[in-house]
Amino acid sequence: MNFECVKCKEVVELGRLKTTNLKHPDEGELTWYYFECPKCFEQFSAFYKNDEVKALELEADKWEKRKKSPHLKAKAKHELAQVWDRRAVIMARLRAELDGGHVADDGAGAMAEQGTPGVPSEGAAP
Ligand SMILES: [Zn+2]
Repeated sequence: MNFECVKCKEVVELGRLKTTNLKHPDEGELTWYYFECPKCFEQFSAFYKNDEVKALELEADKWEKRKKSPHLKAKAKHELAQVWDRRAVIMARLRAELDGGHVADDGAGAMAEQGTPGVPSEGAAP
């Protein structure tokens, strides 16, 4: 993936995501995934995972395997969708919180990226 570094303006190949472990006063232990510019070593945040996200990924793995069983397929699909939704909400919240963006209270973190602070999330479902 080629990318123009906002800091040094070089077009660079970002390569693999790097990870580092962080401790956050509210969120506890986190793994931060980021890219690093190979020229100027500026770090670009990709996403964060906490223990909850990691647990959901393990849960998703389990359902992913059960999906192969014909009589569990429908349930597994349903469960997987829910697990990925929950994971997305948490990851959006972590990102908004740790990368300094706006985050609404309670589960509405997924809305933050759309830049609509102050809009209540209730009833916003499609
Ligand atoms: Zn750079």
